[in-house]
Amino acid sequence: MNYIFGPVNSRRLGRSLGIDLFREKICSLNCIYCEVGATTRLTCERAEYAPAAAIKAEIDAFFADQERAAAVDFVTVTASGEPTLHSGLGEILAHLKRRAAKPVAVLTNGTLLWDAQVRRELSAADVVIPSLDSALPVGFRKIDRPARCLDLARIIEGLTVFSHEFHGQIWLEILLAQGINDTDEEVAALCQAAAQMRLDRIQLNTVIRPPLEPFARPVEQARMAAVAAEFLRHDPARPVDILSGGATQEENGADGQRTIDLGKTADRLALQAEIVEMLKRRPCTAADINRVFHAGGADRVEQLLDALIRDGLLHKRTHNGRLYYQTGPDEAHSE
Ligand code: SF4
Repeated sequence: MNYIFGPVNSRRLGRSLGIDLFREKICSLNCIYCEVGATTRLTCERAEYAPAAAIKAEIDAFFADQERAAAVDFVTVTASGEPTLHSGLGEILAHLKRRAAKPVAVLTNGTLLWDAQVRRELSAADVVIPSLDSALPVGFRKIDRPARCLDLARIIEGLTVFSHEFHGQIWLEILLAQGINDTDEEVAALCQAAAQMRLDRIQLNTVIRPPLEPFARPVEQARMAAVAAEFLRHDPARPVDILSGGATQEENGADGQRTIDLGKTADRLALQAEIVEMLKRRPCTAADINRVFHAGGADRVEQLLDALIRDGLLHKRTHNGRLYYQTGPDEAHSE
């Protein structure tokens, strides 16, 4: 399948089936912490970047198999860039709701919510998870490096309007990078912006996986807790989650699923191909991979991936003391 991946164990959504609306890095931002890589097309222009008919056909094929469908808790619509840039988003969401009969979440950078058409299309989702990393123009430019067509005040206004129109859940994700958008001034501006919005939760994240830019550094847990406390001080009734650090569902992992038999060549090759597909979307540790694919332990995953490293399909990269696997030959340096 070209547009469907998983289901993978998501710490937020349970067993989540991903719908990747396009595989090129087309985005309205070029965030310093991006896990996918540099934006190759920085744009606000909506277009059919991948054929909607092909995506709908894959959805039909997947959900025709009742056993596979039963293993899905949530469907998550995403892209290797920004999914709301796909002009077929509305019809794909409507199709999903008809065919999948599962709750649907959309991950978005929130930059196009000033557009009433985008807001209408997103209204078919059950959960929308938009991002807002800075409410100050300088911080926004530093961390998210937006396309010229974007204006921060308009983005915040769009998010605010959407939050009051939308009937589903909205979880606002804020990613903090050390020394960039974690200052008291930045946090105060974010609290003020969030106070205007109807949000079900705020989710604080930091630079956990290897970022696009080496200077994008994680914020320490004590500071994350202090920022969470600041949001709670502004609105004690609104839950604030810290997504990074500590045991998560993904990290606890054990869910009783069977272990794949790697002794069989066909199974091994199929698993290697699936792992490469997952790593194209984001870098993962051996433990992450094992939790998704039940390969019999992180050690066995490492053995399995050694051959792919030798072939130049993957390389290893250290970030924040953890070893990650990424696609492509080894060009980057470890930190
Ligand atoms: S993190 Fe998301 S919004 Fe930022 S550049 Fe990457 S894909 Fe785009």
